[in-house]
Amino acid sequence: MSDRRIQLVKGDITQQRVDAIVNAANTSLRGGGGVDGAIHRAAGPGLLEECRTLGGCPTGDARITKGYDLPARYVIHTPGPVWQGGGVNEDALLASCYQSTFALLHDHNLKTVAFPSIGTGIYRFPIDRASRIALREIRRALNENPSIERVVIVAFDERTFDAYTRALMEESS
Ligand code: ADP
Repeated sequence: MSDRRIQLVKGDITQQRVDAIVNAANTSLRGGGGVDGAIHRAAGPGLLEECRTLGGCPTGDARITKGYDLPARYVIHTPGPVWQGGGVNEDALLASCYQSTFALLHDHNLKTVAFPSIGTGIYRFPIDRASRIALREIRRALNENPSIERVVIVAFDERTFDAYTRALMEESS
């Protein structure tokens, strides 16, 4: 059975009422396209101002900021790997995005979080492969951290929703 604390929804991550939403950022942390742009637009200029003070973030690592005008209290920014065919450690770097995010959630005693599908947009990580890695890492973190109450995976489009649905079914079978 899949962990009841994991929810898959179709929608826009900027609308999620959770302790923290996760941003599929780039290493500059200066904003960008895709979900990054949507989060900055919804959070307002305070977010970029705070991000500028952080000095960037390496791929697979994560940084936390306040949520500003978002319903979420915090944003966790994690740059995923650019897919280059699978030979340059992309799987481990993507897993590391999830691990780094859960480490920050733990440090800040946060209990609810929403993830986008990190890496599978502009960075072209294959969606089935990414969804399996995401769910493996989410499940592992939930097992290690009973104080996490809810993990929402926010699929922005049908293709992403379908891939995570398949991966959830694989896990529970
Ligand atoms: P990356 O550069 O890590 O690939 P992208 O932002 O390009 O990041 O894409 C990651 C995923 O986020 C894609 O599935 C994209 O469709 C999705 N996405 C884009 N906007 C939003 C949003 N507002 N809420 C949730 N997911 C979004």
